[in-house]
Amino acid sequence: MCYIVNMKTISKSIGFPLDTSKQINVIITKKHMKNMRLSISKSGNVMVSIPYSTTYSYAYQFLVRKREWIANQLNKISKNVIKDSCNFKNQGNIFLLGNNYPLIIKLGTKNNVIFNNCNNQTSPISSLNQNNYGFVITIKNQNEDIKKIFIRWCKNYFLDFFTNRLNYIYSQMFKTSNPPSIKIKTMKSMWGNCNFVKKIITLNLYLAKTPIECIDYVIIHELAHLVHHNHSKQFHALMTTILPDWKTRKKMLNNYTLAF
Ligand SMILES: [Zn+2]
Repeated sequence: MCYIVNMKTISKSIGFPLDTSKQINVIITKKHMKNMRLSISKSGNVMVSIPYSTTYSYAYQFLVRKREWIANQLNKISKNVIKDSCNFKNQGNIFLLGNNYPLIIKLGTKNNVIFNNCNNQTSPISSLNQNNYGFVITIKNQNEDIKKIFIRWCKNYFLDFFTNRLNYIYSQMFKTSNPPSIKIKTMKSMWGNCNFVKKIITLNLYLAKTPIECIDYVIIHELAHLVHHNHSKQFHALMTTILPDWKTRKKMLNNYTLAF
């Protein structure tokens, strides 16, 4: 006879000194399993799963033995995590196109945004003028909502930017010149969307934060849906034909958050 015992998982969070100056949080979970298992998530959460019969202090000793390995793994992760948030304050920063740009805020006669990413500069000396590089946002009075002013600008700027990119890629992919129309909006869970019936491609405004390689990948993905409406084998085969490194670009995209 066999009894199935439905045991609940029990979790416990402990502080664990990684070295003399750094303490991390480790989640120990008791599970129905045979061997202990140590894992670290992409965002750097350290977790240990242990059988019910194992004591917490035994798990702790296990962590002590693995200390160096944990430190190395966390070090690698912290190098890979992109800090892509903006600080909408004077001498803050704006994260756009995979880069961090300095932000200067000035008082002026009207609300205005100037973005200089030095793409058009022929002389490297001109980039030494720091005021010239990055963002200068002029505001009419002190209590203006800088983020709101920036987002309004961003929608306009990137509607142009994305449209140019999409039209160019479309002409290369389909060898015709009637590209779908494009919409831009903030979305919480997707980078883009293709309405193949109405031939409208919607791109997430937050795509503006990612490098051009990622922007192109999302545009090509959505354009490929004009041919294959789902994520079938044929769809992925088409992606590989057009963009052989699409998987790398997709992974890169995962590093960015959907917020400014
Ligand atoms: Zn898709």
